[in-house]
Amino acid sequence: MKRVTLPDGTEVPALGQGTWMMAEGSGDRAAEIAALQAGIDRGMTLIDTAEMYGDGASEELVGVAIAGRRDGLFIVTKVLPSNASRIGTVKACERSLKRLGIDRIDLYLLHWRGGVPLEETVEAFEQLIEAGKIARWGVSNFDVDDLEELAEITDLHGCAANQVLYNPEHRGIEYDLLPFQHTARMPLMAYSPIGQGGRLLRSPALLAVAKRHDATPAQVAIAWALRQQGVIAIPKAGTTAHALQNAEAVKLTLTGEDIAEIDKAFPPPKRKQPLAMI
Ligand code: NDP
Repeated sequence: MKRVTLPDGTEVPALGQGTWMMAEGSGDRAAEIAALQAGIDRGMTLIDTAEMYGDGASEELVGVAIAGRRDGLFIVTKVLPSNASRIGTVKACERSLKRLGIDRIDLYLLHWRGGVPLEETVEAFEQLIEAGKIARWGVSNFDVDDLEELAEITDLHGCAANQVLYNPEHRGIEYDLLPFQHTARMPLMAYSPIGQGGRLLRSPALLAVAKRHDATPAQVAIAWALRQQGVIAIPKAGTTAHALQNAEAVKLTLTGEDIAEIDKAFPPPKRKQPLAMI
């Protein structure tokens, strides 16, 4: 498994697993747990969740999937902006720990920027590190100006990652955010890397590249996100078949011809674009 180094030297797999929409609606809970476990067995040991997902139900499902196999896993969860005050962050973290059934979160992210001053959230994060409840913190849906603001109140090296939308349909971050994070040595976590299983997977360019490699469009999308250093992709798979297929994507290396074909269908940004979010 390709690995990405965090600012504190910790190595994590470049391919992890998302969990949004798990444990919700009519989804098959047992199948979702089995998918996560199959993914873990194939090296996708980084798992991303959030207190927001299913109002805690996703964290609980992750807790079941990882029960008795915590060692070697890297658990990421997120605090809602509305909870991200000095006291609210600590309380939210404690609730997440309980739902996940663990005593320390490996990476705790601010889900997106809200009304609470960043200083307060960062103070709470540092307090949680001191208390041993989180190992490190990061942010999500932060653009360059947000990271610059963050740098004014804290050493940016303390921020372990920024998680943002990134796939061929949404590649505006290549213009400025990706280079900024590369310079700051801050890994970028790519969310919705396979376009939420939607029309991206039916694009003729991805289908053509997939055909050349005897792969699937989802695998091509994952390989595309992972073609760069410092990028972690977290596709969500609700079935074991999808989890196994996604895990295989780390073996796929795109050629110059593949990259050019995807560039033609989804041109790289030529100017600043507002940060896209889901
Ligand atoms: P993804 O791009 O990961 O797509 C997930 C969809 O693709 C699901 O419908 C899934 O179906 C389908 N799928 C998975 N594998 C395959 C495959 N091999 N072939 C075909 N279809 C496949 O979208 P997400 O929005 O879920 O993003 C990934 C994760 O990123 C989230 O789960 C969440 O953890 C995180 N995220 C973070 C956000 C943030 O604001 N920080 C915002 C959005 C997401 P099935 O379930 O049936 O396998």
